[in-house]
Amino acid sequence: MLYKVETMKNPSSTLDYMFTSSSMIPSYDPYDHLLGIQLVEQLTKNASLIQEMVLDEILNRNSETEYLHGFMKGERDKDLFRKQVPIVDYDKVKPYIERIANGENSNIISGKPIVELFRSSGTSGGQNKLMPSTEEDMDRHIFMNNILNSVINKSVKGLEEGKGMDLFFIMPEFTTPSGLPCRPVLTSMYKRRQFRERYSNFCNMYTSPYAAIICTDNRQGMYTHLLCGLIQRDEVLRVGAIFASAFLRAMKFLEEHWQELCLDIRTGDVSRWVTDTSCREAVLGKIMTGPDAELADVIESECKKHPWEGMIKRLWPKTKFIEVIVTGSMMQYVPLLEFYGGGLPLVSPRYASSECSFGINLRPLDKPCDVAYTLLPNMCYYEFIRVKDEEDGARGKDGNIIADAPVEEVVPLVDVDLGCYYELIVTTFTGLYRYRVGDILQVTGFYNAAPQFKFVRRRDVVLSIDMDKTTEEDLLKAISAAKPLLSQLSILLSDYTSFADISSHPGHYVLFWELIPATMTGTSKELAVLLDRKVLEECCAVVESCLNTVYRRYRSQGTWIGPLEIRVVGNGAFDALMDLCLSRGSSVNQYKTPRCIKSTDAIAVLDEKVVGRYFSQKVPHCNWELYKS
Ligand code: AMP
Repeated sequence: MLYKVETMKNPSSTLDYMFTSSSMIPSYDPYDHLLGIQLVEQLTKNASLIQEMVLDEILNRNSETEYLHGFMKGERDKDLFRKQVPIVDYDKVKPYIERIANGENSNIISGKPIVELFRSSGTSGGQNKLMPSTEEDMDRHIFMNNILNSVINKSVKGLEEGKGMDLFFIMPEFTTPSGLPCRPVLTSMYKRRQFRERYSNFCNMYTSPYAAIICTDNRQGMYTHLLCGLIQRDEVLRVGAIFASAFLRAMKFLEEHWQELCLDIRTGDVSRWVTDTSCREAVLGKIMTGPDAELADVIESECKKHPWEGMIKRLWPKTKFIEVIVTGSMMQYVPLLEFYGGGLPLVSPRYASSECSFGINLRPLDKPCDVAYTLLPNMCYYEFIRVKDEEDGARGKDGNIIADAPVEEVVPLVDVDLGCYYELIVTTFTGLYRYRVGDILQVTGFYNAAPQFKFVRRRDVVLSIDMDKTTEEDLLKAISAAKPLLSQLSILLSDYTSFADISSHPGHYVLFWELIPATMTGTSKELAVLLDRKVLEECCAVVESCLNTVYRRYRSQGTWIGPLEIRVVGNGAFDALMDLCLSRGSSVNQYKTPRCIKSTDAIAVLDEKVVGRYFSQKVPHCNWELYKS
C-alpha cells in the first residue's frame, strides 16, 4: 500500500503510518510530486523524533553484532550507545569489512546480510573505501532521489513537458573472495532492475537510452548520450551529470567530437567505432529516425562559432537549468559552467556518499555559494562534532586555525547551532557506527526542525611540509585570490591540484594549474604565448600571501619551506589525470579532481604536459608580533 499523508494531529501515529516498514523508507509513487513535498514537510517537522526512531531501529537490528556487542553487551539503550560506542575513522571499520569481503558472516557488523560493498571514489579523501550495503540500502538512495525530483519539479515548472539529458555512467566492478559485488554506489543503482524498468518505462522523460548508461566503455556511452541529446535537442528541458567535473568532461568531449556527431546526424548512422550493439540498436532503432541534414546544419553552425559561451543554451534552447553538484571542491568549476551555460541556473541537488545518502537542496535555484543541504532524518542517525574553524572566530594566538580540534561536544541533528561548524558523524542501518564521514559542514539555517548545512570542505589536511597544515578550503581560497590576475592575460584556470614536493630541501608547495585561453580554444603552444612570467610569479606570491600564518611563518624563515611553484599544464592534462584515477577504480560519476596528489604516476602524468614553471619571488608577510605574546 502506498503512503498517503494525513494532517499531523498526532505526530507519532502519523509517523507509524509513514514508516510502514522497519527500513523507515516511506513507500510512495515517485511521480506523485505533491506527496513527495508533503513527505519533506513531515520528515523535517519531526526530525528529532524520527532520529530517535532511526537509532532505536538500528540498535534493535544490530545489538548482537560482534562490533556493537563489544561495547554494549547486547543492550539497546540509546544513551548507552552514545556513551560507550567510540567515534571512529575508516581505519577502525576496515578490518571488519575486509573480514566480510573474505567470507566471514556479515553479522559481525550488521544484523541484515551485507549483499555488496560500495566503492567510494577515493578522490575527495584520497583513499578508496569499501562501504557495507544491505538489500534495502539502495531503496534509501532511491527514495532520496525521488524526493529530490519532487522538490525540483516544484521549483521549476513544466519539466514533465520535455526530457532530461542526464550524463550517467557505470564503472567496472569486481567481486570479493566471498563473492560480494564491489562497485560504486551509482553503478549499483543504475544496474538495478528498478532503475532499468523505471528508466525504460519513462523513456519519454530522458534523451538517453538505458544502454548509454550501462555501456562498459564510457567513451562510447558518452558519444551515445550526446548524439541522442543532440537529436532530441528541442525536447531537452534540463541537462546534467552527478558532479560538475563530469559535465565539463562532456563539454570537452563535445568540442572534440561535434563534427563527427553532426556527420552521423546528417547521414543517419552511428560512427563505426561505437561498437556496443545495445547502444547502436537503441539509437538506430528508436531515436535516430533517418538522415537529418537540416538538424546537422543547425548544430554545426552553432558549434563553429567561437567562443563557446552560452553553448548549452544554443544547442539545447529550451533548457531551464544545469543539474550538477557544484559545492565543495566542485565550486571552482562554477565560472566554466556559467560560461557554457550562458546564464542558466546551476542546480546543486544532493549531498550523498557511498556511506549513505544524506541530504537534499530544498531551494534548487539558489546560487552555488548559497546552497545548503537539508539532511533527511530517516536516512541514518546523525551526530556532529563541533569544530573550531576560521569564521567561527576560533583561531589560536598565532592566528592559525586550531586544527579542527573537537570541542568535546557531540550533538544530535536537531541540536546544532546556527553558524557553527561541525564534522559529520553517522550511524547507518548497514554497519557503520559513529563513523566520521570526513566532511566539515556549517549550519546555515533550519527548515522546520531540520538544520540545513553548507558543505565546507573535507576534514583532511591536503598539504603539509612541516608544521604547516593547509586544507582543501585554504588552498581554494588562496588560489581564488590569485585568479583575477589571470584575466589580465585573457586566461582562465580550468582545474588545479597540488603536491608537497619534499624531494629537495627545503620542500615547497607545487600547484599544477591547467590554464586555457579565455576564448576556450587554443593549443598548448598558443597558451604558452599568453603566459607572462611576471604575472604568474605574482600569482605564486598572492597564493602564498593568502595561506595561513603557520605556512607564512615557516616560509618567511627561509629554511623550512621554499618558494611556492606553479606548473602550468596544457589543455587535456587533467583529463589524463582523471583517466589515471579511473583506471584505478574511481567512478566517472563520483570523480572529483583530487586537490592533492601523492602518487608519482599522477605527478608524472601532469609533469608530461607542463608548459611553464614559475616560482614565487616574494617572501610572504608574517606578523611576528603575534608570536611574541
Ligand atoms: P563518494 O563516496 O566517492 O561518493 O564521495 C562522497 C564524498 O563526496 C562526500 O563525503 C563529500 O566529501 C563529497 N560530496 C558529496 N556530495 C557533495 C556535495 N553536494 N558537495 C560537496 N561535496 C560532496
